[in-house]
This record gives sequence, C-alpha cells and structure tokens, in this order.
Amino acid sequence: MKIAIIGAGLAGLSAAFDLAQAGHDVKVYEATEQAGGLASGFKAEGWDWSLEKYYHHWFTSDDDLLGLAEELGVRDKVFFPRPETVAYYDGKFYALDSPLALLKFPGFGLIDKARFGFTYLYLKLLVKDGTHLEKDTAMGWMQRTMGPRVTDVLWRPMLEGKFGKYADKVNMAWLWARIITRTPKLGTYQGGFQAFCDELAAQVIGRGAVIEYNNPVTHVSSEDGKVTVKTDTTVEEFDRLISTTSPRLMAKIAPDLPESYTGKLEGLTSMAASVLILAIKEKLTDSYWFNLPKEAGYPFLAMVEHTNFLPAEHYGGDTLLYCGDYIDHDHEYMTLTKEEMIERFVPSIQRFNPDFDESWIRDSWIFRTNYGQPVPFVGHSKNIPALKTPLDGVWLASMSQVYPYDRGTNFAVEIGRRVAKLATE
Ligand SMILES: Cc1cc2nc3c(=O)[nH]c(=O)nc-3n(C[C@H](O)[C@H](O)[C@H](O)COP(=O)(O)OP(=O)(O)OC[C@H]3O[C@@H](n4cnc5c(N)ncnc54)[C@H](O)[C@@H]3O)c2cc1C
Repeated sequence: MKIAIIGAGLAGLSAAFDLAQAGHDVKVYEATEQAGGLASGFKAEGWDWSLEKYYHHWFTSDDDLLGLAEELGVRDKVFFPRPETVAYYDGKFYALDSPLALLKFPGFGLIDKARFGFTYLYLKLLVKDGTHLEKDTAMGWMQRTMGPRVTDVLWRPMLEGKFGKYADKVNMAWLWARIITRTPKLGTYQGGFQAFCDELAAQVIGRGAVIEYNNPVTHVSSEDGKVTVKTDTTVEEFDRLISTTSPRLMAKIAPDLPESYTGKLEGLTSMAASVLILAIKEKLTDSYWFNLPKEAGYPFLAMVEHTNFLPAEHYGGDTLLYCGDYIDHDHEYMTLTKEEMIERFVPSIQRFNPDFDESWIRDSWIFRTNYGQPVPFVGHSKNIPALKTPLDGVWLASMSQVYPYDRGTNFAVEIGRRVAKLATE
C-alpha cells in the first residue's frame, strides 16, 4: 500500500518503521526541520550532546521504547542513572523516591506512612488494570485511601502543577497508571534523545520510506478509496493516512470529518507547556528534579538541573537548568519574552542558591507548545476518539488517545505501532 504519515515524532516514526519493514510505500510529512517532535533536542556551540527542548527521561518500565531500541540495535546506548528527585515540604526539600526516603520524611506521621505504603502496594501489585478507577477523581480517591495529609503534601501539588484548574477533576485511573510505571532509575540515550530520534529516522529511511521535512500538511480528504494529502507545495494520493498531530489540528486539516467525530476531537482538553532553559556557569544544587508547589511561591512547577542527571562535560561544562510549567493556553508564559521570563524566575532560582544572579547566565532558550499534556477527566475512556476516523483510509494516533497511561515517548511508540498494524489489516 501507499501510506502517508503526518508527523515525524515517535508515534509517526514508529508507525513508519513497521510499515516500511512490511514492504509498504511510506511517506512521512513533517512540519519542522527535524525528527522527534516533542522529544526533539538542540545543540549549542561546544556541546557534544543535544539537550531535549522539554526535559525528558525514560523509566525502566518503558517496554515498548526499550523493545524498539533493541530492534534498532541501539539498546546498549540507553542507560539508566539514578538521579535524586525531591519534593518541597515546609521550606525544605526531601527525597521521596524510595521506601527508606519515605520512612525518613518528617511531613508524615506513622499512620500517614502506613496508609501511603499499603495503598501504594495495593495499586502497584494488586490492581492489574486500573481503568475502572476512572469513575473517581484522583484527589478524592487518594483522600479516602492515603488520607488528607499525604494527598495535600504529595498528590495535590503534583496534580495542580500538571493540570492547573482541572486538578480536582483528573481521574484516578490516570494516577494509577502513573504510579505503576514510574521507576527511581531514569533513562536516557548516549548523545541525547535527538540522537535516538535521528537513529530511528535513519533506519526508517534505510527501510525505503521517505521523510519530507519542512512540509506541513494543510489538507486531507478521502474519496473513492483514495486519501489526498495536500501541503503548500505538493498534492499526492495514498491508500492510507495516519496522522499523529493534535486532535484539534486534525479537525482543522480534515474538514470533511463528520461532526460526530470532530465534536469528540474538539471536546478533548489539554494543557500547554512552557520551558525556560538556562546554561549557567556554576552548579546550582545537588539534585536533579525539584517538584515545586505554587502555594510556596514558586512561579513554575519543576526546576530540573539536567547536569545532575548527566555530566556537564557533554555540554561544554555548562550547568543546564530547566524551569518548566504546564499552563492554560492563554497564560502569559505563552507570550512573554525570554528576557521577561528570566526576570520573573531569577528570585525563585536564588531560593535554591543565594549566590545565583543573572551574571551566571551564559545562554538561554525558551520552548512552548500548545499541546503539552492531555487532561483525563472522570469517565475519560468514553471521550477518547477511535483511532479509525470516519473518513475512509484515515487514522489518527495522538497523545490524547494514550490512556490510562500518561502520554510519553514509550506510549507514542506503542500507539504508532498499533495504528500501523490496524490500518493495514
Ligand atoms: C514538557 C514535556 C515533558 C515531557 N517529558 C517526557 C518524559 O520525561 N518522558 C517521555 O517519555 N515523554 C515525555 N513527554 C511526552 C513526549 O514528548 C510525548 O508523549 C511524545 O513525544 C509524543 O510523540 P508523538 O509522536 O505522539 O507526538 P509529537 O512528538 O508531538 O509529534 C508530532 C509531530 O507532528 C508534526 N506535525 C504537526 N502538525 C503537522 C502537520 N500539519 N504536517 C506535518 N507534520 C506535523 C510535529 O512537528 C511533530 O514532529 C513530555 C512532553 C512535554 C511537553
């Protein structure tokens, strides 16, 4: 078959890998100049490794991703350091990423610790498929099981940071899936995620597929068993089309989709994401990941000192710092200039190290995306659009259709390979 794929992110490339391997004639349209989508990276002068535009790591439970790396013959380039992740409590930061760390945590009494421990083990070991938990909110379920204290110290800041005003409406199946997949060891790829995406793209091309960069698809239609794909410069017919764009963009570029389907696409909710990256001259802290509650006055959700995860020597000796947040689409972080963002964030960074000031900043970058984190409400499974759209030969595989698991590169690989199989069955 002649198959078009929209998007050279991990879902699109994984689909292309299998389809080209199976002997189909595959063309991938990519709007930007590089592979990797949200997982892509960039390299500043003097760096040997690329840095992800949005902080990224893998978990040891990411079986689909690791399986693909194995098939690509590059599994030995994936490695798993054990950096420190800390959470804020009462003016200080504490590691909460192991049973021992939890036992030492002063914020919980004995009963809180027991409730945390039993509920955690129940979710991790006894619930095989937690989708049924979607009828409850994560916040409500945690309050009833782990208790109000653990919920307020641990889960509320995470849910509020990630989902803002929707925090109280996110379902428990999503939190179950997040809990069971997280591991303290965090993985990455020699050279950075971009090197992995480039390897995958090279092997996709090696199997005979074509990737057209800088060629965004503007219109998709389907008639008499043929799908027509238009860009500003090309028009071509295919037997199948797999789109990996956001649902909203899909509704826009495929105007013939019936209302029954576009209504579902447009009814999905997502958060935008913004990340300010600073390359600074000195090491700031000793931890990798800081979870920050907004009520403690931090203007962003996570501060991530990347060079406490991977050595600064890969980045010309720079210390690399991400200040990241999930926000509403009309939040000012989507439009403020980089300089304005830096001005706002400096006082908070000084709370981690009072010696820090703007003279430490050697370079800086800002990345933002409107489609950063889908929001899974109570009863979400009935809101998810089918992979097969009502248009003949047209399929959609987006982050919003990954469920109950949190979107991530592992699940982009899984959904990409699944849709490739379904579309050609
Ligand atoms: C802040 C942040 C942190 C994250 N952290 C992690 C993490 O630690 N670990 C992890 O595994 N995952 C993480 N993720 C999630 C991960 O990046 C995504 O789940 C995954 O990359 C999604 O892949 P995808 O192929 O589905 O979509 P995308 O990566 O969005 O790919 C879609 C592609 O389609 C292209 N495209 C869009 N419109 C068009 C068009 N009209 N024509 C042609 N091409 C088009 C885009 O340019 C893009 O390349 C994070 C995401 C964010 C935002």
